[in-house]
Amino acid sequence: CGIFGVIGVQDAASFVALGLHALQHRGQEAGGIVTHDPEQGFNSARRFGYVRDNFTSQSVMETLPGPLGIGHVRYSTAGSKGQTQIRDVQPFFGEFAMGGAAIAHNGNITNANALRRELIERGSIFQSSSDSECIIHLMARSLQRNIPERMEDALRRVEGAFSVVAMTRTKLIGVRDPLGVRPLVLGRIGEGWCLSSETCALDIIGAEFIREIEPGEMVVITDGGVESHFPFRPQPSKFCIFEHVYFSRPDSILGGRSVYETREAIGRELAKESPVEADLVCPVPDSGTPAAIGFSLESGIPYAMGIIRNQYMGRTFIEPTEQIRNMGVRLKLNVNRALIRGKRVILVDDSVVRGTTSRKIKDMILDAGAKEVHFRIASPPTAWPCFYGVDTPEREKLLAATMTEDEMRTHLGVDSLKFISLNGLYRAVGETNGRDSACPQYCDACFSGEYPVRPSDMIEKGFSL
Ligand code: SF4
Ligand code: MG
Repeated sequence: CGIFGVIGVQDAASFVALGLHALQHRGQEAGGIVTHDPEQGFNSARRFGYVRDNFTSQSVMETLPGPLGIGHVRYSTAGSKGQTQIRDVQPFFGEFAMGGAAIAHNGNITNANALRRELIERGSIFQSSSDSECIIHLMARSLQRNIPERMEDALRRVEGAFSVVAMTRTKLIGVRDPLGVRPLVLGRIGEGWCLSSETCALDIIGAEFIREIEPGEMVVITDGGVESHFPFRPQPSKFCIFEHVYFSRPDSILGGRSVYETREAIGRELAKESPVEADLVCPVPDSGTPAAIGFSLESGIPYAMGIIRNQYMGRTFIEPTEQIRNMGVRLKLNVNRALIRGKRVILVDDSVVRGTTSRKIKDMILDAGAKEVHFRIASPPTAWPCFYGVDTPEREKLLAATMTEDEMRTHLGVDSLKFISLNGLYRAVGETNGRDSACPQYCDACFSGEYPVRPSDMIEKGFSL
């Protein structure tokens, strides 16, 4: 999901809408905005679909007045089954002591089931099926004297991954979980401030990128400025390495590094680790593009757009049902036949999850007359589900969970298949000595099976590590 908030500007909602539009790649199912205006109080609008279709018309935007606002773009992850209901669309707003608060959450709470049971027993009335709603109820029940302290209280009970943007009547609040699994950055816009999942959303509104919120940090922003707190026990950070590989936009800056340059470096590492003779390097667009450029630069094999992407389709993977996802490949991608015929082609993609995309792409490329097809993948085999906010299927559906690399190659029907090594990936993100196996510098659980936070809800449901 993507989150955005702004304080101290005229017409916060329009800034939030623009920010969310730039974060649309992080969630396409639904979006919402909450604003506060001194005269009209809190207002909210939550809708299915794209930001550009929902938060551009005057009739919607004029219902969201005020200098303070937050927003969320959603895609459903672990726990949520089937179609999103409008009641699950964030931000969530709760009226309680001291005027209440609204929150938008990116990540996934790994003890949400246990918390929900406990809260319901104690009388909380849940409005949604979302794990994120627990935070509002925990805040409402806290005995602390102000809302930021109630939020600290609440979040100390929450396990898992959370970047949160929240607002009261007068404050904008941003928090990252102690491991800093999901991103969150601070920006300056005129006399105001903003918080965003990624820096690309600061660029769109002309805000200046100030800094990242630290893992475990809470910032409380008022007209008076930015106050910083560290409410959690300090722990070694575990930023999601898959944000670098796929999830974030290539024009964002993560951990001081350009996502684009990291992806290009991944491609270079791949070319060094797993070279192959061929005529063309083609990306599976768009997610494989920067890595394919890196592969081509390192290997000297020409880069070409052998597959053309229909720009009017969203991220296939983010389409929540299997059926749409299956159709999606053909709706979205088409082979550039004239270019491919008679060629030995290296295809570079970011990841193999279920393997359905890769198989169809291979078929299309062979149909177009390619002589050989070699897959090079910009991440290690995805063998474990993510429980921290990236939607991966159950373990059984992950190709790499049940097959060796060679079995996968046969299953996909390609001439060769190679994944970047975990160490190679760490080098590409700037860890020159590779992965520290005693204390990995990132979360890489979907590749290594080493979960930095115990996924207790899933273990309760029968998942075994
Ligand atoms: Fe990111 Fe993978 Fe960790 Fe999930 S399991 S947070 S996708 S690295
Ligand atoms: Mg892709």
